[in-house]
Amino acid sequence: MSREKIITAQSTGQEDEQFNIALRPRTLGECIGGGELLEKLRISIAAARGRNEPMEHVLLHGPPGLGKTTLAYVIAHEMGTNLKVSSGPALTRPSDLIGILTNLEARDVLFIDEIHRLSPAVEEYIYPAMEDFKVDFVVDSGMHSRTINLPLKPFTLIGATTRAGLLSPPLRTRFGINHHLDFWPVEDLRLRCAMTAEMIRVPCDGDALDLLAARARGTPRIANRLLRRCRDYAQVKGDGRLTTGAVTAALKLEGIDALGLDELDRRFLRVILDVYKGGPVGIEAVAATLGEETDTLVDVVEPYLLQAGLLARTRRGRLATMKAYEHLGVPYTPPPENGSLFDSESV
Ligand code: ADP
Repeated sequence: MSREKIITAQSTGQEDEQFNIALRPRTLGECIGGGELLEKLRISIAAARGRNEPMEHVLLHGPPGLGKTTLAYVIAHEMGTNLKVSSGPALTRPSDLIGILTNLEARDVLFIDEIHRLSPAVEEYIYPAMEDFKVDFVVDSGMHSRTINLPLKPFTLIGATTRAGLLSPPLRTRFGINHHLDFWPVEDLRLRCAMTAEMIRVPCDGDALDLLAARARGTPRIANRLLRRCRDYAQVKGDGRLTTGAVTAALKLEGIDALGLDELDRRFLRVILDVYKGGPVGIEAVAATLGEETDTLVDVVEPYLLQAGLLARTRRGRLATMKAYEHLGVPYTPPPENGSLFDSESV
């Protein structure tokens, strides 16, 4: 199955990315979300600006599409500085990183996406850069080798990762602010949908926005993408207005069900229910049966199924919940032995 699934929170191409960029808020005031993170950032930014210093280093973790990149742009904008964007896999050699670091201006923001994928050789250079704003590197070898200390302008590193657990402890502890981004509540997603609809100038009914927000899997990037597909549908099949009828029909065509699950989500659950009798089953076994990569399932598919209460993670593996049986209309057959699997201790 193609990874170009509508529901994926990962960006699915250049057009999608441009759309995404156009819809990003630029200031903290424009950001949606009443949580403590925005307040924490507001205080840190004001304090740093008052002292004419860079803001603390920030680590943002959580599933894709929830706003990590957006916050990096917002922080740089609020600090009145530049943002440099890179990613763990793109920084293959220490010189890639040193090149970027030495070009930063004072208080600039460096955003490293997928920071858990930095190679250990590159990561080593990040520690002194973050802590003392310097890099040390050795030139020449043998008798002539010498260490060069290169001072850097004070900067802010914003690291983003879908898996904080894969970050090495020395790297993790060097971030002053460490925050997990959760799935958005429906009210916030509705605000996002309304904002996007206005920006892309599509007239819509309030009920249609409620429906979209409820099926966006707690993810603003998905809300934006679904809205775009619904707009196309309404334009071609209707009079251009987003009604509940148009949204329902467009989402059905995309294979999105009442809980916002798509084909891959349902296949994932079906494999556990049908092939592994409800689990518990190891994620690698599910990935192999589905022909998907384990990382994709762990980063993109599982988090929402866990949050929606359709899946449980136990010491013995993944387990479909009663809600999953009900949602997919599969009759529940109790396990042969007496002990209930649902009591398993979660990890
Ligand atoms: P991530 O980097 O976590 O994958 P993005 O920062 O690309 O996610 O966010 C995806 C989209 O979600 C953005 O294009 C934007 O439209 C929306 N979004 C994210 N955070 C916010 C926010 N705080 N307020 C409003 N919209 C947001």
